[in-house]
Amino acid sequence: MDPSEVYDLVIVGGGPGGLSAAIYAMRAAMKTVLIEKAAPGGQVNLSDQVENYPGFTHVGGAELAMRFAEHARAYGLEEINDDVVALEPGLNHHTVILANGQRIHSHAIILATGGTPRTLKVPGEEDLYGKGVSYCAVCDGFFFRGKKVIVVGGGDSACEEGLYLAKLAEQVFVVHRRDTLRASRILQQRVEADCKMEVVWNSVIAEIQADASGVNGVILQDTQSGQQRHMPIDGVFIFIGFTPNNHLVPAGIRMNTDGFVITDEQCATSIAGIYAIGDLREKYARQIVLSAADGCMAALSAAHYVETRKAAIGIDTCELPANLVVR
Ligand code: NAP
Repeated sequence: MDPSEVYDLVIVGGGPGGLSAAIYAMRAAMKTVLIEKAAPGGQVNLSDQVENYPGFTHVGGAELAMRFAEHARAYGLEEINDDVVALEPGLNHHTVILANGQRIHSHAIILATGGTPRTLKVPGEEDLYGKGVSYCAVCDGFFFRGKKVIVVGGGDSACEEGLYLAKLAEQVFVVHRRDTLRASRILQQRVEADCKMEVVWNSVIAEIQADASGVNGVILQDTQSGQQRHMPIDGVFIFIGFTPNNHLVPAGIRMNTDGFVITDEQCATSIAGIYAIGDLREKYARQIVLSAADGCMAALSAAHYVETRKAAIGIDTCELPANLVVR
């Protein structure tokens, strides 16, 4: 194969991790392409407000996502808007296969595919998705103006999204399976202080019920006594964590029992030249700033790996990528 047909780096996923990786890769003059099937920004687009990204006391999730994308594009980043269906590791180079059948070859790949909301797997949940069951307050909250809703979960997402919903809904019940919230202290305090919010402790949803117009109630089960009761409600928002989007992770790459990719400090996986970053990677906390940091680390590490590899096989490393905007 002509070496010019091989990218230095393919980034799969255009969330904060992927876009940060793109910024660092372009600045390192790597021949880079970023592949994203949807709008850039990933899950950040679903956040109403982001309050903990350094430099911004308040910024809309969609605005922050747009800023990340604009920053990466300022260097002339090449982008492909398509779904990646497979990744084939190789000895000479790795290959990414798109839904349209195109095969893209690259010395290094950064997987930044994030995660997908976890589901409760209770009767009614799947059938009533979009009819009162939701996994995104920013997307669907508007439909519940003046209504009563449940938020399921006790983490940062449940509290943050519940607080957002409380601005629209008549009342928000946070249904949590334990007697203490997992969320950060500041969010817990805000939930406690919000007169429209009430935490229903030690409870899980056993069933979501509906009439012809959508969700109209749930069966709540007490996790201590096992007792069940009916609760009328107009909507159920589920925020119980998420599962990593690891369907592209090739065999041979180590993952933990929850399906998160195990990497070293440089985000390198157990296959040379393939990196995993952000919410796909096993790590202590999942934050936008950490995904961005992973993107930086993986891109810098990939740049070193690709340069060493190209030198070893006799490819000229001095030529700059044609699309690079030198600023
Ligand atoms: P999370 O921290 O994993 O919390 C999930 C919550 O759902 C937990 O309270 C858990 O209960 C509950 N849960 C899990 N499975 C359940 C089930 N089957 N039935 C009922 N409840 C269930 O998930 P997250 O809130 O989506 O947050 C994910 C990561 O993103 C975290 O690292 C979080 O800090 C971060 N995040 C940060 C921010 C921010 O800083 N502003 C915002 C959003 C998310 P238990 O507590 O009993 O396990």
